[in-house]
Amino acid sequence: MKICHFSYHDATHWGAVKKDLIFPLEDLESLPENDGKKRLTESIEIEKVKLLPPTKPSKIVCVGRNYAEHAAELGNEIPKEPLLFFKAPSSLISEGEIIIIPEQSAQVEHEGELAVVIGRNCKNLKDADNPFDYVFGYMCLNDVTARDLQRKDGQFARAKSFDTFCPIGAFIETDLDASDIRLTTKVNGAIKQDGRTSQMIFPIQFLIRYISRQMTLNAGDIIATGTPSGVSKLTSGDVCEVEIEGIGILSNPVV
Ligand code: MG
Repeated sequence: MKICHFSYHDATHWGAVKKDLIFPLEDLESLPENDGKKRLTESIEIEKVKLLPPTKPSKIVCVGRNYAEHAAELGNEIPKEPLLFFKAPSSLISEGEIIIIPEQSAQVEHEGELAVVIGRNCKNLKDADNPFDYVFGYMCLNDVTARDLQRKDGQFARAKSFDTFCPIGAFIETDLDASDIRLTTKVNGAIKQDGRTSQMIFPIQFLIRYISRQMTLNAGDIIATGTPSGVSKLTSGDVCEVEIEGIGILSNPVV
């Protein structure tokens, strides 16, 4: 099911998307967030609503260098265990919103990524636990990065967390085998990154189990699973698109 969060007539709602229609959803226990005051009863054309970010994470946990060719293109070794860092939740924007290049950076780059949305609290998973029991679904994410500041600072907090540096798609796909799907990133229609999730050094189930042993993952939290090779600089006037097979396209202009 393709889930979206939207506002319509001054209230917010959850819905399931089928082609051009949204079918309102009742409360679902696993939904990351649901303010549902007023319930809708009939389907609505998607063009009549304002799509909202489909989750409000307490944290965005990112995995660095999880594709070997991307690690190599930045001159880094392949990590022996997942390299974790955070993006600030305040960096989130949604489909169609503007990525703003800050004056502090001369080298802002895109990183198209598959994002995992956590469906229920998850701590210290054992080897026998199934990590996918804790997944709500998957969405597109752009881990926008000020590459010059990432190098200069020696850690990632500033380079990854400027406002607007975390575009996420409008849709969470809940029924998806994400183990081997195509992930492409285009700038102004030209393909820059073209990979498959099967190229991850640490696959999704490994990441969820590993992260849960370092910190509690809360419902609604996002794991950005790393980016394939082909990152490139964004400049004002560009349009950056992250497309993931079975999920859809995340498109954002750059200013
Ligand atoms: Mg990244």
